[in-house]
Amino acid sequence: MGRLSFSLNDGRIWLDDQRMLLIHAKSLGALRHEMIDAFGLDAARGLLTRMGYRAGVIDAQMARKVRSTTSSKNMFVVGPQMHCLEGVGHSEVVRLDFDVERGTHYGEFVWTHPIEDEEHIRHFLIGADPACWMQTGYASGFSTEFMGRPVLYREVECLSMGHPACRIVGKVVEDWGDEAADDLRFTMPGMFAVADAQRASNRIEVLLSPDESAIAAGHPVGVSPSFNTAMQMLRRVAPTQATVLFLGESGVGKEVFARTLHRLSHRGDKPFIALNCATIPEQLVESELFGAERGAFTGATQSRLGRFERADGGTLFLDEVGTLSISAQSKLLRVLQEGEIERLGDSQTRQVDVRVVAATNVDLRAEVRKGNFREDLFFRLNVFPILIAPLRDRHEDIPLLMTHFLARFNQRHARRIKGFTQRAVDAMLSYDWPGNIRELENVIERGVILAANEGAIDKQDLFTSGERFSEQRYALDNQGKIVRADEATLARNAPPVVEDDRMFARIDKLLHGAAENAEPVSIEEFETVLLKRAVEKTRGNLAAAARLLGITRPQMVYRLKSRGIMHDSDQN
Ligand SMILES: [Zn+2]
Repeated sequence: MGRLSFSLNDGRIWLDDQRMLLIHAKSLGALRHEMIDAFGLDAARGLLTRMGYRAGVIDAQMARKVRSTTSSKNMFVVGPQMHCLEGVGHSEVVRLDFDVERGTHYGEFVWTHPIEDEEHIRHFLIGADPACWMQTGYASGFSTEFMGRPVLYREVECLSMGHPACRIVGKVVEDWGDEAADDLRFTMPGMFAVADAQRASNRIEVLLSPDESAIAAGHPVGVSPSFNTAMQMLRRVAPTQATVLFLGESGVGKEVFARTLHRLSHRGDKPFIALNCATIPEQLVESELFGAERGAFTGATQSRLGRFERADGGTLFLDEVGTLSISAQSKLLRVLQEGEIERLGDSQTRQVDVRVVAATNVDLRAEVRKGNFREDLFFRLNVFPILIAPLRDRHEDIPLLMTHFLARFNQRHARRIKGFTQRAVDAMLSYDWPGNIRELENVIERGVILAANEGAIDKQDLFTSGERFSEQRYALDNQGKIVRADEATLARNAPPVVEDDRMFARIDKLLHGAAENAEPVSIEEFETVLLKRAVEKTRGNLAAAARLLGITRPQMVYRLKSRGIMHDSDQN
């Protein structure tokens, strides 16, 4: 079952690792109504079906990742459960037979209280067509992603058609005859257009598993708005000759973006040459860039091509361009202006046709003001800047990157790790990633190596070197109250407080009896009982518990931890 959590201070809701949105059923109904009026029934149906389809795909990815250790049947049932948790209605299995390896699938479910029918009937009364579009799309998306091949669900009975309940049936696309053509058109328009079922099924697999194809090609991976903005800009500028400047912290993947830019450009079949200006000793930068004639400097025993000449016809990527010396900057500027280079120790100029793509993690404008970077070069490079956001600002990309690197390192290290535990997912999501994607990549590689083979990666396999976590997670406690995640865990994990009557008896003797009859009472022990009682009385509300004892919340946490009543892991 998915886990719903509310992050109150920044207004976010999570279902496991996916950001969710709570909207009014009636506003969805109104949107539906307007869409039908504006675009017609078919177009509206297609749009909503595919919106549901997308949600199903995401939930299937989540189900696979989180429940990787259970049987595939149990894993599949997570779909309908999540859907129920998302508020769209309750479903009951009538029949479910599938075999992921053989690629067979038959599913039949009955829905009660589907949200879409309620809204559809409110606006359109009973009609001849089924109305649970998003839900049916969801079932198709979930099953297709889960099975790794196209599965189509159709709503064969519907409340909106006057039936007592809604009934959906799902089969592999090839197993449906012509009767499914309409539903296929709404659900998978791309597939509908492709006659050959086998070809279609390969195609849809490619479309649905961008992760695997991305591994081979080294594509950037992400779904967040800032990622999409960067990709959109990249696609737009790729076919031009414009100089592109990637901005962003270390480790955000600027080189991956640069490679993609190159691949999408007309120069895609020509060389892509990268140079990290910061890693080359200053006295060698110029010969690296422009080449050197024999004898140009000590050690130059033969003429060699610079990166510009090697990149001729293609793209030269200059990472950390802000570290170039002023003299190298001047020469770079000249190449950008004239399109020609001069090897070190050579007076001849050579024409080169190179698109320069640069990247920097420093504020070049500030470097210009300080006199460390030539202003004219800055303007030359800054024609088309693309900002790659740090990972902490694109939370939504983390799950996708986790799957991506898991597949990569499974392959590289010949491991068969199935996924991540809930604790691991939580930890990944509440960590700030100062080293960005590079750090995440390293952490997952470590996890793949440390975790038991065929098992799931747990938190301790990932974080072993004292990483600090933010403490801003919220969750629902057992009574459905929103509390800080650490408190929810504490209330759930803390063993019921066993009253230490004997200790109170000893205190009583100490206070009221004669000294010779008194048994020793340790202050430590007394404090432990007080702490436990306060937490119990306030049902895990640490701030309230602290108030009862006249201390601050951090003091309370410190004491609970030092007494072993609370653990570090409870706080993450
Ligand atoms: Zn229905």
